[in-house]
Amino acid sequence: MNNKGQIIKVSGPLVVASGMKDADVYDVVEVSKDKLIGEIIEMRGDRASIQVYEETTGIGPGDEVVTTGSPLSVELGPGILEQMFDGIQRPLETLRAQNGDFLIRGAGVKALDREKKWDFKALAKVGDHVVPGDFLGFVPETSVIDHKIMVPNGIEGDIVDIKEGLFTVEEIIAVIETKDGKKELNMIQRWPVRRGRPYKQKIDPKAPLITGQRVIDTFFPITKGGTAAIPGPFGSGKTVVQHQLAKWADAQVVVYVGCGERGNEMTDVLMEFPELIDQKTGESIMKRTVLIANTSNMPVAAREASIYTGITISEYFRDMGYSVAMMADSTSRWAEALREMSGRLEEMPGDEGYPAYLSSRIAQFYERAGRVICNASEEREGALSVIGAVSPPGGDISEPVTQNTLRIVKIFWRLDYDLSYQRHFPAINWIDSYSLYQNKIDEYLDDNVNENFSKNRKRAMSLLQEESSLLEIVRLVGRDTLSEEDQLKLDITKSIREDFLQQNAFHEVDTFCSLDKQFKMLNTILKFYDSAIDALSRGVYLEEIEELDVIDKIARMKNIHEEEINKIDELGEEILKEMKKLERGGAEEDA
Ligand code: ADP
Ligand code: MG
Repeated sequence: MNNKGQIIKVSGPLVVASGMKDADVYDVVEVSKDKLIGEIIEMRGDRASIQVYEETTGIGPGDEVVTTGSPLSVELGPGILEQMFDGIQRPLETLRAQNGDFLIRGAGVKALDREKKWDFKALAKVGDHVVPGDFLGFVPETSVIDHKIMVPNGIEGDIVDIKEGLFTVEEIIAVIETKDGKKELNMIQRWPVRRGRPYKQKIDPKAPLITGQRVIDTFFPITKGGTAAIPGPFGSGKTVVQHQLAKWADAQVVVYVGCGERGNEMTDVLMEFPELIDQKTGESIMKRTVLIANTSNMPVAAREASIYTGITISEYFRDMGYSVAMMADSTSRWAEALREMSGRLEEMPGDEGYPAYLSSRIAQFYERAGRVICNASEEREGALSVIGAVSPPGGDISEPVTQNTLRIVKIFWRLDYDLSYQRHFPAINWIDSYSLYQNKIDEYLDDNVNENFSKNRKRAMSLLQEESSLLEIVRLVGRDTLSEEDQLKLDITKSIREDFLQQNAFHEVDTFCSLDKQFKMLNTILKFYDSAIDALSRGVYLEEIEELDVIDKIARMKNIHEEEINKIDELGEEILKEMKKLERGGAEEDA
């Protein structure tokens, strides 16, 4: 086989090489004597078009290109968690230590640490018949996640040897007698990133992925296994929402892909995440987190690969039976990388210069999410939720990336420029946003949190929907023309917006809100509303209601600690008491 060719053209990240007739589309190649890593994205005769994942300055026609004959793959095994990788899974810390800089080239750095010894404990024994996905054993990779060592795809047979003790990822931990002879297994698997990992069956998501963000959990919930898009203009809070989910969502493993956004945001993540303590485990959230960074200052082609690297790692943990959440910030930058490569290939441009296959690529990506019965066992269930930020130019969501994404995802959190301008955060527009999981989650919330959960939510939502038409009247003819009942309604919707929907990501307490607290908060606002309607009907003036001290306390509910949320119930009692004290037409007047 002739696996060597020669460069005939270099155009930014695109390299064209001839003499490559034995290579295939999607083969990984090494370019020039620097061994830059690239991937063949098109073959014409013996000419290969290659996207190179590193800076191509200094290489040119005549330089050698060698195909490896295998597709772009990730290494899966212990040592992934707590790491920060680049778009093609090179560990950034190691790169930096070796080269003092992120922008190195062709370094033969391995994804997984080859020196570190892991404590392997067997879950299977000699004589067991095993199929792909079966657990051979596990290593406690971090204090919160046991990394299951699974039988790799394509291997089935009887275990003839299995070890226990300290091993590196490359040392043999088991031997399997297959129909093609004995196979020695270590703890590393490889998987081509552009292909979804197999599972038995997709099943409907039913449980919420609890995020601790009120507007999400109460109004537009996401499921374990669900898909969501967050489109919004620059500065509207996409990254903050993604960070909040990475910090607080009740997933067992989190994969965060910083794709094409500013580098300092990933530095912030690196500084902040290790300090944050996960409520459930009491450990740093990094113990269950993988970061993938291909920021705007890094080569554009690797950005295209980064979300595949991220989702493949996510699927791998899903296959162990974990609930995994992956965030990608931002999928627009990924699509732009796709557009740039397509332009250089001189493909026929589609909508706004994006290639015609944009929509199928987006669909293929999100289709890898879901709640599944895992490959090996009917009893093992895993879930992968995917949340993608979209940054449409000028915030115009009619553009192709947003539209194609909305066609496939089940949840739309629309970030609103006006809301962010008014500093209403999270700036999720409550009129346009939706979650197609709402009915499923309603059942769950009513059964598990409070039987009135969904009833309250529906009521609050219809009040907010009425608010816009009431505000329109106020704008045209003034508030005084409204009945006291309608004016009260506006007081309540203001309270829902400011005291419930607004949530400060940077406030020590408010940054996370449990479902119990969410219920109590909204219930208290509605309790105030009901007792105020009652007071109005008794002839109490609205002004008097508006002067009650409890209103201030409602505004401060969000900062009540989780351990003290009974205080919110006490506030409910206080509301009833104070409201009862109010008398018809004001006490003095009556006298
Ligand atoms: P984007 O990623 O859409 O460009 P960012 O996520 O960087 O926007 O948010 C821009 C700014 O908005 C943040 O730096 C922060 O000041 C503010 N912000 C966004 N969301 C919140 C929030 N939930 N709480 C407080 N401030 C927020
Ligand atoms: Mg951002």
